[in-house]
Amino acid sequence: MHGDGKAVSVVGAGTNLAKLLQVQRAAHAADPFPTAEQRIDRLRRLLAALESHEQRIVEALNADFGYRSPHQTWFAEVVTTAKPLRLAIAQLRRWMRPERRSTGLPFNLLGARAEVHYQPLGVVGVISPWNVPVNLAVAPLAGVLAAGNRVMMKPSEATPATAELLQQMIASAFDPAELTVATGGVEVGREFSALPFDHLLYTGGEAVAKHIMRAASDHLTPLTLELGGKSPTLIGEGADLQLAARRIAFGKVFNAGQVCLAPDYVLVPNARKRELVDALIEAFKGMLPEASGSRDFVAAINARHADRLRGYVLEARASGAEVIELEWTGRSSAPGAIMVPLTLLVEPSPMLAVMREEIFGPLLPIVGYDRFEDALAMINAKDRPLALYYFGDDRAQIQQVLTRTVSGGVTLNDVIMHYTMDDLPFGGVGASGMGAYHGRDGFRRFSHARAVYTQSRFDIGGMLRPPYGPRFERIARVLQKHG
Ligand code: NAD
Repeated sequence: MHGDGKAVSVVGAGTNLAKLLQVQRAAHAADPFPTAEQRIDRLRRLLAALESHEQRIVEALNADFGYRSPHQTWFAEVVTTAKPLRLAIAQLRRWMRPERRSTGLPFNLLGARAEVHYQPLGVVGVISPWNVPVNLAVAPLAGVLAAGNRVMMKPSEATPATAELLQQMIASAFDPAELTVATGGVEVGREFSALPFDHLLYTGGEAVAKHIMRAASDHLTPLTLELGGKSPTLIGEGADLQLAARRIAFGKVFNAGQVCLAPDYVLVPNARKRELVDALIEAFKGMLPEASGSRDFVAAINARHADRLRGYVLEARASGAEVIELEWTGRSSAPGAIMVPLTLLVEPSPMLAVMREEIFGPLLPIVGYDRFEDALAMINAKDRPLALYYFGDDRAQIQQVLTRTVSGGVTLNDVIMHYTMDDLPFGGVGASGMGAYHGRDGFRRFSHARAVYTQSRFDIGGMLRPPYGPRFERIARVLQKHG
């Protein structure tokens, strides 16, 4: 079956999302601070459910995409999801420890204590997209469950087989009061995002994010928005182009560029543009000798997305840009799969849709620049991207990239890899999102950092109470200068 974006509702009519939330709320109220053992047990059950469904995950994704490299599915959905769950299991006790903070003079001398306690938020909603649908639904739970929350999930309707499998997988290991999956289309998404969660994590596109934010505003539901955008790849003067090309090409081959962190377009010194184009073609051929007919490639998710991508190419060609399509066998990996060829677009006009919208597919525009500052200006003229990539070892250029641009994250001399660093916060900024998670940053994102102050046994406050006189003034003066 091919994912064509049609809605399927597995939860179905009669299941009331608000009721499910109430059930989770009541369970949370009865046990508002799960122990480390309880949290580890939840994380272990999730990990076991994931790993025991490995083969079915590969099959469901293949059905939803029409064709998806089994190795890519296994790596993107299982390996990269198991890793953060294992990290959370190993680190949880450390993350949960209250954190000592400074009290300042004179309180520090008199035995007062200031601490931050990380408290569960309650019930967290998780809305996830179709492109890496198991990972983006399950990996955030490493932080959400570690923080002691209960969770309601809503996977994308564009991957219906995976959504159904997720629901079965979670139901096989969890009571719905702990963790549950609601499936369905946009209507269910709307109802879901309007629920009064204690926190809502949305991963997806910017347009839907605006609906989510509006819906969340009714209850002032705190949001984490993990969005996308046009992540630039900047090639520095002296960069090793062969190495850069192999790494950039992988960023477009992986899930056929249907990755929020995929390099969206490349900026290269004009003098080295042709060299880069040749190196990219070599790199693509090296990875996929049969181009998009290779078993290691991935189909477009559905006809709508494929048409959008083909539209970009048509428009670029009509405008006079050089279009290099890497389709040299014409063979498709699976009947019914919609394969979009890897395509380089050399010097597309900035006015074209492919240079204004997030590509989210296997097309790669290559744009030349003369002066490094022009390249930085091109990046800064667009919305703040989710990621930014720089290739080269020029320290002064790296410094400029890091201080004169803003993006969710940065990888130097590669693409996407900062995502795989579990000890780095992952998230966007501006139009690419708000709030970051992963590792301990995920634990903190989905916890309430509660300030807990324990007053000294000495009656410090007494010195500040009226009637005021010289003694108060002396103490207040000390506080002003040294407190
Ligand atoms: P999508 O169409 O699958 O939508 C995402 C979710 O939103 C789905 O569960 C859908 O049912 C729900 N939804 C749709 N309309 C809704 C509405 N009106 N109200 C509430 N919920 C609604 O996914 P998409 O938006 O096509 O995903 C692709 C985008 O996601 C790209 O922009 C990509 O960059 C971004 N993305 C970001 C990350 C990240 O971690 N930052 C990861 C992957 C994808």
